[in-house]
Amino acid sequence: MLTNSLHELDRQHLIHPVSSFRGHEARGVRVLRSAKGATLTDDTGRELLDGFAGLWCVNAGYGHESIVEAAAEQMRRLPYATGYFDLGSEPPIRLAAALAERAPGDLNHVYFTLGGSDAVDSTIRFVRYYWHARGQADRDQFISVEQGYHGSTTMGAGLTALPGFHDGFGVPYAWQHKISSHYLYRNPLGDDPQAVIAASVAELRAKVDEIGADRVAAFYVEPIQGSGGVLVPPPGWLKAMRDLCAELGILFIADEVITGFGRTGPIFACADEGIVPDLLTCAKGLTSGYVPMGAVLMSDHVYQVIAEGAGARAIGHGFTYSAHPVSAAVALEVLALYEGGIFENGIRAGKRLMAGLETLRDHPLVGDVRGRGMLAALELVTDKAKKTPLPADMQPATRLFDRAWEQGLVIRSFAQGIFGYAPPLCCTEAEIDEIVARTRRVLDLTLDDPELRGVVR
Ligand code: PLP
Repeated sequence: MLTNSLHELDRQHLIHPVSSFRGHEARGVRVLRSAKGATLTDDTGRELLDGFAGLWCVNAGYGHESIVEAAAEQMRRLPYATGYFDLGSEPPIRLAAALAERAPGDLNHVYFTLGGSDAVDSTIRFVRYYWHARGQADRDQFISVEQGYHGSTTMGAGLTALPGFHDGFGVPYAWQHKISSHYLYRNPLGDDPQAVIAASVAELRAKVDEIGADRVAAFYVEPIQGSGGVLVPPPGWLKAMRDLCAELGILFIADEVITGFGRTGPIFACADEGIVPDLLTCAKGLTSGYVPMGAVLMSDHVYQVIAEGAGARAIGHGFTYSAHPVSAAVALEVLALYEGGIFENGIRAGKRLMAGLETLRDHPLVGDVRGRGMLAALELVTDKAKKTPLPADMQPATRLFDRAWEQGLVIRSFAQGIFGYAPPLCCTEAEIDEIVARTRRVLDLTLDDPELRGVVR
């Protein structure tokens, strides 16, 4: 055993999330050893710029000693406290109050989870309970958006609309429905914002009619669709959908697992459109990825209905690690760092990132540039007029990721040939410029790929 390398042990024993087992066995692991700011160091000592903040989560950047101290101090004092039996500890109480103070509208109640998937799953349970409590148990149908991602628990994966999360898993369930994405770049209606908004409103209305107005429980949406390829809706889209849900009397759930904590500028992207969802999910940037934690923010009216409905009965939903004191202590320190300058830096850096990526539009492979704040994407095509995607047999996801890695850049590379960017909000101007410069090199090298020779126009 001792003679086995880390790489061999990984191949033999560690199952990687969202991976082809066989593909991973063949490719092997790239081991990261340390990180500081926005720079990663691998086990060969090579440095790479992290253009994706881990997995859109390390918003504060790596290596903050004060976060390490907050965790260590809490572990020394009280490493664990359950929230069961009316027990509790100081950090999650303070964190819940801090989030309620900063969240839009009356999202005043917070249920802590271990990440984003179980936050989404928790909302499904709370929504069902809410409608039971209102005497409308038949409202058990849920609607989400094509290209959306809402985690990979069994129920959440059914709201997710990416085929890889469904095939072979027996989801979505019959009670999970979808409407089309706004996906401006490839919307068959074109990219006129008002037409796209009107079409989404009409489609949601029609879907609710089809299912039955008294059967629909909730509508789920990401303010910007992340894992579907960083799809930014036209301004006014989110508000139009929120208003329609209010008119139709169905709950509106904003999944801010990616967009929360400064990713688009404000602490929550709902603020970009001045809307207040009935429930909001967040995770990732909450602790900046230093330790696991997610949260469900619940509005006063949802909370009151559930509270009244249950009366003296316990509401049977909870995890051993809900409201973990170490995670909450980390989140409080992360919030202090954000508000001590990182959010502001992120807003400046986001403008530079978008401006830098815009300069790549002239590249023959770049069909679309989109984003908001420090969340962005390039969509690559072989024919700009026809918007032809890169050939699938080129396996763009791994090919482009590898090429970026060779250039010392870590970005997300989606199967369709989309580069995703979500750098740490602490990035310097020089780091942002370097992300853009390295991207151009990756694009130039890709242009020389045998599969693309003579194909790109
Ligand atoms: N919801 C959204 C919008 C996400 O992007 C993600 C993860 O990327 C999740 C939920 C699931 O979060 P987690 O991976 O922390 O379980």
